[in-house]
Amino acid sequence: MKADKGGVAVEERPVAVEPEEVTKITTSIFPGRYVQGAGALKSLREEVGRLGKKALAIVDPSVDKIVAPYLKSGDGVTYIPDAFCGECCDPEIERLSAVAKKQNCDVIVGLGGGKALDTAKAVAFTLGHPVAIVPTLASTDAPCSALSVIYTPTGEFARYLLYPNNPEVVVVDTTIISRAPVRFLVSGMGDALSTWFEAEDCHIKHAGNMTGRLGSMTAFALAKLCYDTLLEYGTAAKLACEAGVVSPALEHIVEANTLLSGLGFESGGLSGAHAIHNGLTILPETHHFWHGEKVAIGTLALLMLTDRPPSVIKEVYDFCEAVNLPITLEQIGLKNITDEQLLAVATAACAAGETIHNAPTEVTPKRVFAAIKAADAEGRARLAKHAAVHA
Ligand SMILES: [Zn+2]
Repeated sequence: MKADKGGVAVEERPVAVEPEEVTKITTSIFPGRYVQGAGALKSLREEVGRLGKKALAIVDPSVDKIVAPYLKSGDGVTYIPDAFCGECCDPEIERLSAVAKKQNCDVIVGLGGGKALDTAKAVAFTLGHPVAIVPTLASTDAPCSALSVIYTPTGEFARYLLYPNNPEVVVVDTTIISRAPVRFLVSGMGDALSTWFEAEDCHIKHAGNMTGRLGSMTAFALAKLCYDTLLEYGTAAKLACEAGVVSPALEHIVEANTLLSGLGFESGGLSGAHAIHNGLTILPETHHFWHGEKVAIGTLALLMLTDRPPSVIKEVYDFCEAVNLPITLEQIGLKNITDEQLLAVATAACAAGETIHNAPTEVTPKRVFAAIKAADAEGRARLAKHAAVHA
C-alpha cells in the first residue's frame, strides 16, 4: 500500500515476524516544569499565570508568614489564600473544592509540607484544574508525583489517590528549605537513598514502575544520579543547612531529594525499602520517626535481603552515619522490639501487592525478618566500634 505523506511516497514493508507486544512497553512520567533556586518563589506568579488567572492558594499555616509576601495579586493573577486544616482528608478536600468553585478559581496552588501539597493535588483533580506545588521542605520525594496519600480526619491512612497527570509545575525555593530544621533535609536524603536500589531491583526483575509498565533507561539513569548525588554532596548540604545558607551542595541535594528521587521512584519503580517502611508503621513506637528515617532502615535491610556486594553495603552505612540517618532499630524507637513484633513487621512488608515482591530474590516474611535483623546487627556493631574508639 502506498500513502502520500508530505509529498513523499511511503511504502509499508512486509513483516514476517510481529514483535512481542505489551510486556516490553516502557513509560516515564514527569511534572510539567520544575523550578528550583534561592528566591525561586519570586517566579511563582509568572508560573501560576501560565496556568490560570485566579488561584486558590492552599497554605500550610506553619509557613503562612514565609510565603504570604509571594501571594500578592498582580500581573493578571489573583490569589485567594485559604488556610489548610492540617490533614489531607476527604472533608478538607471537599471544603477547599467548594471554596475554589465559589470563587471561580481556575488554578490551585499548594504551599507547605506534604499533606498540604497532597490536598492541593486532590482539589485540582476534583475540579479538573491545573496545580502548582510549592514544597517548603525537602523531606520527601512526593511533590513531583502523580499521587496523594489520603488520611481519615483523625490521621489514619485511608488510601492512595492516583492521578492521570503529574503537577503542572513544582517551584522549590532553596532559601526557605535552608532555614527549615536540618532533620527535614536529612529525612529527605533517607527517602532518596532507597530510590536507586529499588529502581535497580525493578530493572533486574523486569518489574513495573508506578504506572505498571517497565521503567525506561532515562528513569534508571536518573535514579543512579540521585544516589551518586547523595554520596557526593550529602554531608556538605547538611552542613550548609545547619548554617542556614544555600550552597551549591544544598541545591544539588534538594534536587536529588525532590526531583531525582521523585522521577526515580515513579518511573523506575519501588521494591523492598518502602515495603519494609510500611511494615514498620504497624508499630506505634515508630510513629514519631519520619518517612525517610524509616525508609533508610528499609534500604539497609533491602541491601541484606538482596545480597548486595559488601562494598556497596559499607558505602551506604558510611553515608547514613555521615549524615546522621538511623542504622539501628533502636534509632527509630524500637529498642525493645521482640522477634514476634519484628516478624509481624516483616509479614506486613510481604503483604500481597506490596512492592517488596519486585526484589529479584525469594521474598518470604522469615527472609525479610532475617534481613532486618542482619541490618540492625551491622548497625549496632558499627556503633559499638565507634564507642570503643572514643572510650
Ligand atoms: Zn518515600
